[in-house]
Amino acid sequence: MSQRTFSIIKPDAVRKGYTAAILAEIEKAGFKIVSIKRMSISKAQAEGFYYVHAERGFFGELTDFMSSGPIFPMVLEKDNAIADFRTLMGATNPANAAEGTLRKLFASSIGENAVHGSDAEETAAFEIGYFFAGIEVK
Ligand code: UDP
Repeated sequence: MSQRTFSIIKPDAVRKGYTAAILAEIEKAGFKIVSIKRMSISKAQAEGFYYVHAERGFFGELTDFMSSGPIFPMVLEKDNAIADFRTLMGATNPANAAEGTLRKLFASSIGENAVHGSDAEETAAFEIGYFFAGIEVK
């Protein structure tokens, strides 16, 4: 069954010029890019996106990082998109990420780890709605 997930190319990967290479891997893996844009977000907007992590020790660092430069939020579609994108993305810490995963290829640390991917249907719905208007994801 076709499913949608939400991803972000994070500021570290954009700064390093990896955007096109990451998009190529995503398309090679069979995902359709439904919607994508380049934007910068404020610290408060990053805090709203990552609200589930508000009590975690890394929250301040994470939201500083996510508001430190341009990002590419996007909506992706394929069968089993949420789980398959988590597999393509690799472990949170690139040191533990499997060969060929986006984080193994493009990430440098557990904090600056190149890409985000939704972890469940409810989070995907929240995250798509956080970044895109309905008319942009038809
Ligand atoms: N993060 C961090 N330090 C940690 C764990 C997570 O800076 O010890 C950051 C990292 O950028 C990660 C994000 O917080 O991608 C969200 O964490 P989560 O556990 O949801 O990992 P993910 O689902 O992104 O693999």
